[in-house]
Amino acid sequence: MQQFKAESKRLLEMMINSIYTQREIFLRELISNASDAIDKMYYKALTEEGLTFNKEDYFIKITADKDKRTLTISDTGIGMTPEELENNLGVIAKSGSLAFKKETEQKDGHNIIGQFGVGFYSAFMVADEVTVISKAWGANEAYRWHSEGAEGYTIEPASKETAGTDIILHIKANTEEDSYDEYLETYRLRAIVKKYSDFIRYPIKMEISGQRPKADAEGEFESYTEEQTVNSMVPIWRKNKSELKDEDYENFYFEKRYGFDKPLKHIHISADGAVVYNAILFIPENTPFDYYTKEFEKGLELYSNGVLIMDKCGDLLPDYFSFVKGMVDSEDLSLNISRELLQHDRQLKLIAKNIKNKIKSQLQSMLKDERDSYEKFYSAFGRQLKFGVYNDYGVNKDDLQDLLLFYSSKERKLVSLNEYVSRMPEDQKFIYYATGSSIERIDRLPQTELVSDKGYEILYLTEDIDEFAIKIIAKYKEKEFKSVSSGDLGIESDAEDQAADEQQDSKELFERMQQLLDGKVKSVKASKRLKSHPVCLSSEGELTIEMEKILNAMPN
Ligand code: ADP
Ligand code: MG
Repeated sequence: MQQFKAESKRLLEMMINSIYTQREIFLRELISNASDAIDKMYYKALTEEGLTFNKEDYFIKITADKDKRTLTISDTGIGMTPEELENNLGVIAKSGSLAFKKETEQKDGHNIIGQFGVGFYSAFMVADEVTVISKAWGANEAYRWHSEGAEGYTIEPASKETAGTDIILHIKANTEEDSYDEYLETYRLRAIVKKYSDFIRYPIKMEISGQRPKADAEGEFESYTEEQTVNSMVPIWRKNKSELKDEDYENFYFEKRYGFDKPLKHIHISADGAVVYNAILFIPENTPFDYYTKEFEKGLELYSNGVLIMDKCGDLLPDYFSFVKGMVDSEDLSLNISRELLQHDRQLKLIAKNIKNKIKSQLQSMLKDERDSYEKFYSAFGRQLKFGVYNDYGVNKDDLQDLLLFYSSKERKLVSLNEYVSRMPEDQKFIYYATGSSIERIDRLPQTELVSDKGYEILYLTEDIDEFAIKIIAKYKEKEFKSVSSGDLGIESDAEDQAADEQQDSKELFERMQQLLDGKVKSVKASKRLKSHPVCLSSEGELTIEMEKILNAMPN
């Protein structure tokens, strides 16, 4: 018996003890290895003279035998020589092992595997015995690799007709806590294949049994067992955009359970620049019920060359676009990459940046050309964009400010900052805004009178976050924002002198009022902005009354 390398043994022990709860991914790993092995054959046929690649000869087959408790994954790929069996299965592959080692050192072995490619050894999560029978392409002999766990493995000659590999798992017996029977059930295996490996380029075949209506006798049924290809092979994201209809994207959205609504927009990206990837992204119509809660988890599905490696890759989306659903497939990502390394992956960062820009320009063109759709989107997710402006000290405001809408006193509907600024009269120096809990309430604010009288438009800020976002933007196209309740409105008027006179004439009255309101207001002054209302509150300095209210209400 040969010994595993120390590092491999450690990984194996972890697999055997199943510290990882998502055991079903072992099948994804074995199928992806089988697919890699066929890829190698394909490459050989492409590069070596006198070799042709007959598509029909290349496939993966999954067979379960309940009596023997075995599950076999066979491929017609390139196979392994005894040396390769020794080197590839006795030591963990270089790619995965390095990442793995770094992580184990940091976190003493718990929760380290994440959702990533853990490779061949993942078979030991469900099997107590693994046999590999392989015949390398062009060789005369086949070999059998066998292991019952961490103690070691054996390699001996075996017989096999054609080149390729059979991986035979002896499925563990059920324990009190865990049942392994499901990995021998056709329907379950088929579902796992569909979930993780639907887009593997080669057919994944299974014997499927069932009942079907008899062709010649109405009302009668017959049993059948036939070989079926379980995976759909060509993923929608590899298809040409021109071949696809809106409906195809909607079906995909629904099949993938990205949401139960009809998506407002899809974005199909086929990038082949600095980084090669395909992506299909969706902007949903409705806010998911948990969207504005802590439970909500952003992210896109991440595939490496057709193989799902992560359900929700959060690093692909900035928080302010967390509502976007969809998937990314890239050939440039390794299957065996840890969650931590992925965060620092240069390719992934490039993809994320690219995606962010695509989403931004999609939203911009929606705002421009499909106003109704955009407003629907905005009512669901506008708040998130405003948080995006405010968060991280405003580093993202340039990306987001053109996507914001606010209600306009003049237009009586939502307008963008650009629309506001482009129709400002020449003498108007500021972008005016008013805060309040509703449009009706702001309409009745005395503070809006003078500005409105001047013929200037006022943006109504009705959500808590609005004013914080505006403060961060500070200036739009060189125009500063100004609250209608700020001390100095920047409007020249005769009212100014008049107010000063009144302040002087009624000095005693103002002093008396101030005494009575002591501790409640800072000062009482004649106002230059009131027309039909007798009195209003205003603030001095940076914070408006509304912001003060919110800040005071916040827990410390
Ligand atoms: P990785 O796939 O990342 O290399 P694995 O642990 O999944 O790591 O597999 C280790 C190695 O074993 C593979 O790189 C490959 O050389 C070999 N191997 C595994 N399964 C097969 C197979 N079905 N056919 C040929 N080679 C295989
Ligand atoms: Mg692998």
